[in-house]
Amino acid sequence: MTARLALYLNALDTIHMNLGIAGAGLLGRLLTYTLTQQGHHVSVFDPASSPTARGAAGWTAAGMLSPTSELESADMNVFELGVRSLERWTQIVPQLKLPMSLSHAGSLLLAHRHDVGAAQRIIQLLARKAPADYQPEAISLQQLAHYEPDVQGPSHAWLLPREGHLNTVQGMQALYASATGADWHWDEPVTEIAAHTLVTRQRRYTFDWVFDVRGLGQKRATGGEHANEVSCQNVRGVRGEIFWLHAPGVTLNRPVRLLHPRHRVYLVPRVDDIIVVGATEIESEDRSPVSLRSTVELLAAAHSVIPALAEARVVHNETNLRPALIDNLPRIEHEEGLTRINGLFRHGWMISPALVDDALAHVFSST
Ligand SMILES: Cc1cc2nc3c(=O)[nH]c(=O)nc-3n(C[C@H](O)[C@H](O)[C@H](O)COP(=O)(O)OP(=O)(O)OC[C@H]3O[C@@H](n4cnc5c(N)ncnc54)[C@H](O)[C@@H]3O)c2cc1C
Repeated sequence: MTARLALYLNALDTIHMNLGIAGAGLLGRLLTYTLTQQGHHVSVFDPASSPTARGAAGWTAAGMLSPTSELESADMNVFELGVRSLERWTQIVPQLKLPMSLSHAGSLLLAHRHDVGAAQRIIQLLARKAPADYQPEAISLQQLAHYEPDVQGPSHAWLLPREGHLNTVQGMQALYASATGADWHWDEPVTEIAAHTLVTRQRRYTFDWVFDVRGLGQKRATGGEHANEVSCQNVRGVRGEIFWLHAPGVTLNRPVRLLHPRHRVYLVPRVDDIIVVGATEIESEDRSPVSLRSTVELLAAAHSVIPALAEARVVHNETNLRPALIDNLPRIEHEEGLTRINGLFRHGWMISPALVDDALAHVFSST
């Protein structure tokens, strides 16, 4: 335990603060849950019309907790946050007032015969970056059939036994329902933020400390002169499209990712026979509905991994924007009375518990 974290834990028993949070997405809800658990008074503001209105990227996420797989594009800090967060979710989920499914069944990377060259390059990259006990393990087709009997078609498979996944829709609801005593201000966007202060259309609020976790809502109105700056306010949206398939009778026990030279496709099991298929990653802030091209590519790839999905029903699709900074890495910024967190990009659920712990450790050691 770091000295800062120890100080923070000691301080928890004594300080009860009045805190303001801008944003009730993934980070906003996790912060609110954590802080109310510690006895603080928390007020949260969001433009969404209700706790179940689904504007935040947190709702759309597939819920993979995959620190090794993400090393293809992330750094060791993200990996380490991911490993710590997996442990933290294990502690948080049983305390929540509503069910939130969390699995530690690992994940699988798959490749078709003609794509093995490209897949091997990624496996080598992961093997080079990941510590010894997080290495991808090549498994035989017989072993693959044992783990995932309905996966048929890929010729190569690798197991990542220390990865997991969770149900993000349940998670958003459960974190909200478990943040006892918080004041939620729906339909009240924050228009201005300064140390100790949140301003909305209705009024100006003063707090002991404020947190800016508005995701894309943190973007500066005038960005021109800051275009190259790595800062929470220099955020962009990266479009992602996903599908929900209703597939009764199809078995999928853990997330599987197809290593394809042109697009990454994953399938993630959910309750009630739902399989989430995702996700595109497009440099665009267009929130319009899913395109035909993405539909064809994602669903054809999903079918090539699990042929039994042919008769699955497409029950839902969704587009959302991942909040990303120019280096695609997460960032915490502190000044006295104000903390900003942003840039969770495609890793929000995977890293947020550790990120929140780190941010709060700093805040409580400086108050
Ligand atoms: C298709 C897709 C798949 C994904 N899959 C995964 C995955 O498998 N694993 C994973 O770990 N991550 C995944 N993610 C990423 C994850 O969803 C994000 O990293 C995470 O949601 C970011 O959390 P956040 O709280 O910063 O932003 P959000 O969850 O977007 O929340 C931001 C909140 O701020 C609010 N807000 C905006 N403007 C204002 C304002 N002016 N005042 C007050 N509030 C405001 C918004 O309404 C929103 O509620 C995925 C994302 C997408 C789009």
